[in-house]
Amino acid sequence: MVKLRNLLAVIVLSAGPAGACEIRDFLTTDLPAMAKLPWIGALELAYPGMEVSEDRQTLTLADGRKLPTGLGDVPLSPQERLEDANISEQFLQTYPLAFDLTRREEPWFDPGRARNEPFFRALYGDSKEEVAASLVTVTWPGKSKASFQLSDRTCAATQLQAALNAIAAPGPDMDVYFQTIGGSFNWRAIAGTTRLSGHSFGMAVDFNTDLGGYWRWSGAAEGAVGPYENRYPEVLVREMERHGFIWGGKWHHFDGMHFEYRPELILHARLTGNRAD
Ligand SMILES: [Zn+2]
Repeated sequence: MVKLRNLLAVIVLSAGPAGACEIRDFLTTDLPAMAKLPWIGALELAYPGMEVSEDRQTLTLADGRKLPTGLGDVPLSPQERLEDANISEQFLQTYPLAFDLTRREEPWFDPGRARNEPFFRALYGDSKEEVAASLVTVTWPGKSKASFQLSDRTCAATQLQAALNAIAAPGPDMDVYFQTIGGSFNWRAIAGTTRLSGHSFGMAVDFNTDLGGYWRWSGAAEGAVGPYENRYPEVLVREMERHGFIWGGKWHHFDGMHFEYRPELILHARLTGNRAD
């Protein structure tokens, strides 16, 4: 038994960019025939091994741990959801796949910004040390010497490397977006809150902070954020989305440098009929 357990540990440790992670294109991957609610289909497709029970109340992770989905809880306002979203509420706002920044003009339209913290602690690790143990360094292949540390527990690091390789492919020079980068893994609360940032879980990256734009730095009041002058090109955003990353430039509370590995939200958008073009 001990030997078997050791063997399993070796298998788990060797999973990584050269191991278990196959590069996935979330904009074109086949969608299952939908007998299930879109958010359930999206979760199960995004994170292999994850399963939601028939009564939709319990989510079981690949390793057998269980979490409540919260479906049927008393509805929260979008503002309250930011503090305390349950798993099903993370899908109440559909992430827009089109490169149309008018949706963000609607106050509190921030798809992906309301996170269920227990879900991400279960996926990525329950402490700084536990998350850090699964980090992989991802390198921008262009001129700037930018690198990022993301977790590969969900294949986020592998997907980011594939996205950066695609962004660096011949075409318009994208190097400027990888200068003065904001970073990646950082176990910390979101500025002005006690909520853990997506950066805590090794699933988020900030590219060029000078070009990014962040609502809190703009001096705007929460819930009444004005215009956002985007300086990130569609082709970069599209490659990130293709590889499973949502973009904070589509949020009312804009965070234009911020990309976060949320393949379930890209798939959910497609399963609800949202299109990129
Ligand atoms: Zn960020």
